[in-house]
Amino acid sequence: ETLIRMRSLCRYYEMGDQQVRALDNIDLTFLRSEYVAIMGPSGSGKSTLMNIIGCLDTPSSGTYDLNGENVADMDDDELARIRNREIGFVFQTFNLLPRLNCLRNVELPLIYAGVDADERQQRALDALQRVGLGDRVSHKPTELSGGQIQRVAIARALINNPSIILADEPTGNLDTATSRDIMAIFSELSDSGNTILLITHEEEIAHYTRRIIRMRDGKIESDSTAQHQSQQG
Ligand code: ADP
Ligand code: ADP
Repeated sequence: ETLIRMRSLCRYYEMGDQQVRALDNIDLTFLRSEYVAIMGPSGSGKSTLMNIIGCLDTPSSGTYDLNGENVADMDDDELARIRNREIGFVFQTFNLLPRLNCLRNVELPLIYAGVDADERQQRALDALQRVGLGDRVSHKPTELSGGQIQRVAIARALINNPSIILADEPTGNLDTATSRDIMAIFSELSDSGNTILLITHEEEIAHYTRRIIRMRDGKIESDSTAQHQSQQG
């Protein structure tokens, strides 16, 4: 099932009388449940691509269909609506509030959305259980390891049950063993129907995914799907 389809997608920046081609004629399709790494040198267009996929930015030209809706022409309100419904974000730094426990950190997006307390708590518990932290709900970030904190951040990204998780260097601050754990959690999430797209510069990390897209100068340099599922753990 096709979730994302981009055709002839470009994103230009005007810098004085210069034009930067951050994305140059991108054709990409992502299916539901895919698990994908995006690699490439600094300035190759990774962040720009993720910002567009995440409905934080729109293309200069070309089409972007997300779950059957044409995102390329949406205004800011429509972008915000589709972003809240379809996208969960995970970052290299965890962006948790230090004084709130795990449950409160995870339910935060639902407070902003006006969801009532019982439903918030239930959904936050479900999300924490999905990342294996059902027994840590009352802990604060300072009482957790780096890997556990990143799992809380992933639970928070899951709270609206998004179809897509976008992660920018999600293992950038983690040691090798902990990074593998996080990649295994993403693998489980993709098996259960989430599409996972992550930026990484680490080859070892990229090989835990099932598809590696390499970018250069705003173009797709290569796009390869693993022959068999990569080993986890
Ligand atoms: P990365 O660490 O992913 O390589 P960069 O450090 O290149 O990202 O850029 C970080 C962010 O800064 C980008 O997502 C982009 O929004 C912004 N940015 C990058 N290059 C420029 C630029 N030349 N002018 C203005 N903003 C930029
Ligand atoms: P990456 O994430 O791979 O480092 P980016 O998507 O951040 O690459 O940047 C791609 C190109 O677009 C770079 O040349 C960068 O300088 C430029 N760029 C990114 N954001 C901006 C911006 N806001 N304004 C101007 N140029 C930008």
